[in-house]
Amino acid sequence: MSLSLPADPPAARSLTGVLPQILGSLTGDPQWFPEARSAVVVMIDGLGRTNLTARAGHARFLQGSMAKKDAARTVFPSTTAAALTSLLTGEPPGVHGIVGYSVRVPGRTYAVNQLQGWETDGLDPLSWQRSAPLLERESVAGRPCFVVSAPHYAATGFTRAIQRGATFVGVAAPGERLSTAAQLAARHPGALVYVYLSELDATGHAHGWQSDRWVAKLESVDTDVRRFAGALAPGVGAIVTADHGMVDVPARSHVLLRTGDRLLDDVAMIAGEPRMLHLYAESDAAGVLGRWRDAEGERSWVLSREEAVASGLFGAQVAPEVAARIGDVLVAARGEIAYYDDRLADKRAQRMIGQHGSLTDQERIVPLIRLGAFA
Ligand SMILES: [Zn+2]
Repeated sequence: MSLSLPADPPAARSLTGVLPQILGSLTGDPQWFPEARSAVVVMIDGLGRTNLTARAGHARFLQGSMAKKDAARTVFPSTTAAALTSLLTGEPPGVHGIVGYSVRVPGRTYAVNQLQGWETDGLDPLSWQRSAPLLERESVAGRPCFVVSAPHYAATGFTRAIQRGATFVGVAAPGERLSTAAQLAARHPGALVYVYLSELDATGHAHGWQSDRWVAKLESVDTDVRRFAGALAPGVGAIVTADHGMVDVPARSHVLLRTGDRLLDDVAMIAGEPRMLHLYAESDAAGVLGRWRDAEGERSWVLSREEAVASGLFGAQVAPEVAARIGDVLVAARGEIAYYDDRLADKRAQRMIGQHGSLTDQERIVPLIRLGAFA
C-alpha cells in the first residue's frame, strides 16, 4: 500500500554523510568538498533552510554564501538527538539507535528523554548509542579533534555518547565559540573542530521562528559567522549546517489528547515529541494504527513500526535492538499541528511555539554552506 511519504529532496545531501566527507577532504580523498588542511563544522541548531531563506534579509552573509546546491537533508525524526548522533557517527538512526526526542526504554514505564535523560535515567553512553563516534575514532588515530560548545554540555551523558574522544572546549558566548574554533583549526594542522550553537533553536521553541526575537538571534548568528569566515586561516575549510528546521504551531492548532479520547485506547505510552509521536500499544498495535489512521491520516503520516522500517525512514538497516525502541505506531504531523497528551499535569511543553520532528521539507532541509577552503 502507498503511504504517500514525501520523497527525499533530490538535490540535498544526507547530513549523515557530512563528517565522513569532510574527513575525506582532510585525507586526500575529496568528493563533496575540496581538499583542506583542517576543518570546522558549525552546527546551528534549528536553522532550517526554508527558515533561513524566508528571513534572508536578516542573514545576508549566510544567505549570500549559500549556493543553490548547498542543502542537506536531516534524518528522521528531524530532531536534535537523532540528527547530531547521525552527524557525529556517520550512521543513520536505525544503526546508532537514537530514534526520537524521547523513547521507551526497556524496563521503564515512562518515556526517556534522549538529550537530557542519560544521567537521570541511567542510559549508558557507551552502549545505548550503538555507533562509534567519529571524533573518538579520529583522535585515537592521532588527529587533533575539538568540540567547542557551551560549558554546561561538558560532562553530559549525551556529550559522552556522541562526542567522546575530542577535547571539549567550553565557551559561553556563541561568537567566541566560533572565533575559538577558527583559532584551533589554524593552530592544529589536520584538526577537526565541531562547534555547537544551541541559542537559535531555544529562541525558536520559546517564541517561534517568525518572531522578532528569532530574527534578532538570526542576525547575531549571521554577524558571528561572517566574522568567523573572515578569521579562517588559509587551507581551513568550514561547513555551516543544522540538525533540523522549524515550523511554528500556535496554541489554537494543538491537538489535545484527553481522557476518554478513542485515540488513547490501548496506548500504553506516548513518546517522541508533539510533531512526531511514538505510540506504544498495550496489546493491539493494529487497532491503535487503525484508529489513528482513520482520525488523523489526512493531516499526519500515520505509520506502523514495520512500515516505517520497510520504507527506510530510519535508514536502510534497522538493528533489531533499535526496532524495539521505535513506537508500534508513528504519527508524523503533515499540517501545522502538534499533538499533546493533555492528561499530563505539567503543561509547560504546550507553551512551545517552534516545533520540529516530522517529515516536511521545512523541518528536514538544512543549509550546507561551504566556507574558507571548502567554498
Ligand atoms: Zn529543537
